[in-house]
Amino acid sequence: MIIGILKEQNGEQRVSILPEQAEVLIKNGNTVWLESGAGEAAFAADAAYTAKNVSIESREKIRKEADVLLSYWAPPEAAEGTIRPGAILIGVYQPLFQFNLMRSWSEQKLTCFSLDMIPRTTRAQSMDVLSSQANIAGYKAVLLAANLFPRYFPMFMTAAGSIAPAKVLILGAGVAGLQAVATARRLGAVVEVSDTRPAVKEEVMSLGAKFIEVDGAADASKAGGYAVEQSEEYRQKQKQRIAEAVAKADIIIATAQLQGKPAPLLVTEEMLKQMKPGSVVIDLAASTGGNVFGVKNNETTQLHGVTLVGNSQLASDMPWDASKMYGKNVLNFLQLIINKECRLNLNFEDDIVKGCCITHDGAVVNTRISELIK
Ligand code: NAD
Repeated sequence: MIIGILKEQNGEQRVSILPEQAEVLIKNGNTVWLESGAGEAAFAADAAYTAKNVSIESREKIRKEADVLLSYWAPPEAAEGTIRPGAILIGVYQPLFQFNLMRSWSEQKLTCFSLDMIPRTTRAQSMDVLSSQANIAGYKAVLLAANLFPRYFPMFMTAAGSIAPAKVLILGAGVAGLQAVATARRLGAVVEVSDTRPAVKEEVMSLGAKFIEVDGAADASKAGGYAVEQSEEYRQKQKQRIAEAVAKADIIIATAQLQGKPAPLLVTEEMLKQMKPGSVVIDLAASTGGNVFGVKNNETTQLHGVTLVGNSQLASDMPWDASKMYGKNVLNFLQLIINKECRLNLNFEDDIVKGCCITHDGAVVNTRISELIK
């Protein structure tokens, strides 16, 4: 098969496959094409690809002739109808929000695999792009907060006076939240965590943070690991506990998400007013509305003396490792759907293929997405 790597648009710094990963595909008998400069922002030059027998081809040729098109985000041409019908697109397309684009792709007879829809099972872990990228985002969020914070993170006793440790509140203890806990603890902060899934309490405590207990959480055990919506009574109790924690916090790292839905608003304007001037909020849920009042997606603003950063793509700011991990996820997925004869082998009985295949053979085949289109 001919696998084409497209250069990302709009300032995205990641590339979907690195040279050593392309080499594996070529050794397996595939041909790999690269749009010139696609890896540059991730420090993978064209020459590093050609050294692994990747050919540099024009974007037009890749778009018209490749069997598989790799990119992180949806290539703009796929909205314009200029990709060869029958081509396979693999990336992170957020189909729960972009369902009209998915309908257009099915009409164009494109086969699309959106890797953010891969089920969160043990077998799928090596292809789980949400985890690999969220891990980086959680780490970067804490470093960014430390950079913007006008005080130290660790406690110090010096001849020039004592420094109290920074207090960090983390909202949501999924992959990003837990990495943020670990990173903030390594920097010496005192960390508190809120999550609606009581199951994460032990993980939070084992990282040396305090878990904010709220009774009566809804059962999320059948939601594939994701959080579920909570009762009004629970939300009120949680709000009270979060308000107490916000009033003490210097830094908030917000990561709470509900799959395919707007992010829950957990910090109100009244709570924000209780924070000390110079406090910092990093909201990773900004692209779906944010967890914190006043946060604007892709902007850094000030409100009531607090710096608010809305950024849901912090992994893009660490493009080397983000590409390395994303590329490994993509490579593992390609090895699942391309057989030894280098032919496409789609097994719709496989929950991984079924979960992330959104369009195929002129139809929207993913039932969650087709229901949204109705
Ligand atoms: P996510 O990005 O969907 O959400 C982040 C966190 O926010 C979750 O822990 C969620 O419980 C929490 N949250 C949602 N609403 C909240 C609210 N109102 N208040 C406080 N917290 C709230 O999560 P994720 O990192 O993508 O992980 C989702 C799940 O998948 C987790 O259970 C994770 O352990 C699991 N997972 C499994 C695998 C695997 O087995 N392959 C891989 C990765 C993640």
